[in-house]
Amino acid sequence: MLIVMRNNATLKDITHVITTLEDRGVFPVVNKNGDQTLIGIAGKNPFTQEQLTALGGVEDVVDEKKPFKRVSREFHPEPTVIRIGNVTIGDGSFTTFAGPCAIESEQQIHEIARFVKSQGAQGLRGGAFKPRSSPYSFQGLGEDGLRFMRDAGKENGLVTVSEVMDVRQVPLLVKYVDMMQVGARNMQNFDLLREVGIAGKPVMLKRGLSATIEELLLAAEYIYNSGSPQIVLCERGIRTFEQSTRNTLDISAIPLCKQLSHLPIIVDPSHAAGRRDLIKPLSLAAVAVGADGVIIETHPVPDKATSDGPQSLTFPQFGECANAVNALVAATR
Ligand code: PEP
Ligand code: MN
Repeated sequence: MLIVMRNNATLKDITHVITTLEDRGVFPVVNKNGDQTLIGIAGKNPFTQEQLTALGGVEDVVDEKKPFKRVSREFHPEPTVIRIGNVTIGDGSFTTFAGPCAIESEQQIHEIARFVKSQGAQGLRGGAFKPRSSPYSFQGLGEDGLRFMRDAGKENGLVTVSEVMDVRQVPLLVKYVDMMQVGARNMQNFDLLREVGIAGKPVMLKRGLSATIEELLLAAEYIYNSGSPQIVLCERGIRTFEQSTRNTLDISAIPLCKQLSHLPIIVDPSHAAGRRDLIKPLSLAAVAVGADGVIIETHPVPDKATSDGPQSLTFPQFGECANAVNALVAATR
C-alpha cells in the first residue's frame, strides 16, 4: 500500500499519518518525489483504504502490487482529455501532427506549416534539439529553430510540439512550444520525466526503442506524479529482428494502452516504418485501432532533408495520406 500525500500537505498532516500507522504497529517508509511525500506500508496493514484516504493531507491510497497506479484505468476510469488551444486529444477525435524531422530554416518551417494546415493538420512537429546516432550529423537549430516554429505555428493556427533532450532545455521548450516531446531515447531518463512533469506543460511521451508497455506506463507515471496529468503516449515502433522496416509498429500497444490507462495515445508511423511507402497504411491502421492521432514527418524535398528523409512524405504524398485519414475518421468516428 502506498499513501500519496497532497503536494500541499503540511508537516502536521504527514506526521499525523505516520503516528496513526505507528500506533497500530505499522512501520511506514517515507519517500519524497519532488514536492510530494509518499508513505509506503510494507507487510500487514490493519487499515482499510477508506480509513487511510480520510486522513488529512492524503491524496490517494494505491495498491502497490500494481506496477503503475495513477495512469491506470482503475485510478481514473474516464479518458484523460488534453486541451491545447482549440485542439483536444483523447476525446474520441483524431489529431494529426505533421512537420519535418528537424527545423532547418525559418522559410522551411513556415512553408511546411502552411502546407500541413491546408491539409487539415492541427499540430506542427519539428525538432530543434535532435538525438542523432552520429555526433557528426545535424544536431538541430536550438533556440532559433524553436522561435521559427513558434511563429509558424501561431501564423497558421497550429499547436506545436518539439523534443526536449535534457533537463537544462526544459525552460526553453516551455517558453516556445505547446507540448514537449520526450523522445524514445529518453523515455527512462527519470530526471527529465520529473522535470517535464514539474514544468506542467502537456508532454508527448514516446515509447522507448526496447521498452515494454509496462515500462512506458511507468515512465508516464513519473511525469504524472511530478504534477502533470497532461500526457500523450506515443507508439513509435520498437526494435525487433525484422530488418525491412526501421522499427516494428506495435499496433496492439494502442488498444492495450487504452485498456490499461486513461491517457491518450497517438501513433508515429514515420519512425516506426522508416520508409515513406508505409506511412499511409500505418496511419489508417492507427485510426482503425482507436488511436487519438498520428504524428507524421513531411518535407518539401525529402532527399535534401537534414534528417529522416527516407521516411518523410513529399507534400503530394502527405496530402494523399491526410485525405485518406480524414475520410476514415469521418466514416468511423
Ligand atoms: C523524432 O520524433 O524526431 C524522434 C527522434 O523520434 P524518436 O524519439 O521516436 O526516435
Ligand atoms: Mn525524425
